[in-house]
Amino acid sequence: MIVSKNDIPSFLDKLIGEYQVFAPVQEGSYTLFKQICSGADAALTDGNTKLPAKEIIFPQSEKLFSYNVTAEGAKLESIIDDRKKVVFGVRPCDAKSLTLLDNVFNNDKYQDPYYLTRRANTILVGIGCNSPASTCFCTSVKGGPFDTKGLDLLLVDIGDAYVVEVVTEKGKTLIDNAGFASASEADKAAAAKAKDEAQVTCQVNTDGLKEKLDVNFYDPIWEKIHEKCLGCGACTYLCPTCHCFDIVDDAVDCNGCRVRNWDSCAFPLFTLHGSGHNPRTSNKERYRNRIMHKFKYFVDNFGEIACVGCGRCIKNCPVNMDIRVVLEDVRGSEARLDS
Ligand code: SF4
Ligand code: SF4
Repeated sequence: MIVSKNDIPSFLDKLIGEYQVFAPVQEGSYTLFKQICSGADAALTDGNTKLPAKEIIFPQSEKLFSYNVTAEGAKLESIIDDRKKVVFGVRPCDAKSLTLLDNVFNNDKYQDPYYLTRRANTILVGIGCNSPASTCFCTSVKGGPFDTKGLDLLLVDIGDAYVVEVVTEKGKTLIDNAGFASASEADKAAAAKAKDEAQVTCQVNTDGLKEKLDVNFYDPIWEKIHEKCLGCGACTYLCPTCHCFDIVDDAVDCNGCRVRNWDSCAFPLFTLHGSGHNPRTSNKERYRNRIMHKFKYFVDNFGEIACVGCGRCIKNCPVNMDIRVVLEDVRGSEARLDS
């Protein structure tokens, strides 16, 4: 199928009647995913949004349930968001990140109804990346600029139009009555050419990385690696695969609600125990944990690297920490099992 770029706003307008529609919108010099009220608000420019689409499924702050305790007992009211959503214009790396988060929120030990309900009710419409940024390294972590993992539909930019590839039944349902024309052989050839020409120039060698992390917990390299890091947590908040959270009660007397907020392993309070003990007192330990979690612990637990190569942490670190350099340093470090 094919859709003219000029017809995208009216297509989105039709969806808005039935779904909450999220799309990148322009905010000053960058784009962010926001719920849109008009298709004309979608800013489908090149490149990725400043924040990932993750927060649509796993919000930065969400009420889990409200409660009211009286002499008669406690009344709980669960707050599950089951509204139908479309996320339009998500990039393949962000879509893949949700498949990684699925491991965390849906596994043998734990199923998170808040995340899973949103996930089940959300359709992801992706746009492939014709011009990956210099900080993108998706192909080094088993992704790609036209990877369909996690997507329901993939749009391939061929100039004035998008060739639409159906990935799932959910995606097909979304466009069944959209009136899109069939893609001609020339359109399909143009899409194939766009895919061929998209170059991810940055490569990160992850060969042997996990094996190195298995044994270098005490390597002196960590003293050097973390030195510049301020522990500000920006990289964790911008990362599509980071998922640390904290749960607090927001209450007055006996009425309140339980709220889940994003947290960050970059912060000392994240691991502070009620006893006062903190297993990660230093920035070195916290930064090491971030790398270990993404490239060792997640692989141990779920068989995949918890990084999609989106490059946000590289672009936005205030002191120019570059995870590509960090990983190279780790690969070159000595294996030391002693403490
Ligand atoms: S954004 Fe940079 S300085 Fe801030 S915690 Fe991450 S690596 Fe450290
Ligand atoms: S670690 Fe950095 S490059 Fe990897 S997914 Fe997170 S923000 Fe993107």
